[in-house]
Amino acid sequence: MARQFAVIGLGRFGSSVARTLIDQGHEVLAIDENEEKVAEMGDLAAQAVQLDATDEKALRAVGIEDVDVAIVAIGGDIQASILITLLLKEIGVKEVVAKALNARHGRILQKIGADKVIFPEREMGERLAQILVTPSVLEQIELAPGHSIMEIVAPKAFVGKTVRDLDIRAKYGANMITIKKKVPHLTKTGETDFVETVNIAPKAEDRIEKGDHLVVIGKDEHLAKLKKLSSKEG
Ligand code: ATP
Repeated sequence: MARQFAVIGLGRFGSSVARTLIDQGHEVLAIDENEEKVAEMGDLAAQAVQLDATDEKALRAVGIEDVDVAIVAIGGDIQASILITLLLKEIGVKEVVAKALNARHGRILQKIGADKVIFPEREMGERLAQILVTPSVLEQIELAPGHSIMEIVAPKAFVGKTVRDLDIRAKYGANMITIKKKVPHLTKTGETDFVETVNIAPKAEDRIEKGDHLVVIGKDEHLAKLKKLSSKEG
């Protein structure tokens, strides 16, 4: 079932979170004290309202307690961000995600009960640097401290081998959970096109081919070995 979200603060970050949620079919209550920001979101969001989110009564009046997740996307006004996060937890919103401007702001948000604190600039910077230095790492997401899931281009040394031959778990301490392949097919106009097939339960006899993408999960130190292998050829 689609979850109900509230996004408070419709700056560049908040509006992009709201749009993505809406695109994925979720209902979004979009809040900003600035009339223009609300108007920009008005046609898209189920409900876009202009109010000062530090005002508890105003928040309750729009039914904030009914949302599953509230995202506090205010960076500039630290005091407002803290106050709103506190209010949302007091009102009883199940999950409050708050954007922090810096480490100190983040610590305070955590202390007052934010369920998740995010540092968009820092996280994007880390991710970009990671991708730039290891071009064959297409995506890496932290699951828990020290553990990640990542998508890599199959290293040359893996091409032509089966899952059994590679024995990734024994050799690298990681688990390969998906193999993505680009399979050529002919379009109606006779041109060659590629469709992606996703094998989410690779079997021992499945073979890795050039250009395949592998999704692996494991400890960061173990994944680093795979990364090195993959980036040597990048
Ligand atoms: P960006 O995401 O663009 O980087 P930012 O982190 O600089 O934004 P701000 O500009 O401080 O964040 O705030 C984002 C939005 O939050 C603005 O559109 C602002 O009008 C709105 N906002 C700030 N304080 C409140 C408040 N008390 N109630 C509702 N909306 C607010």
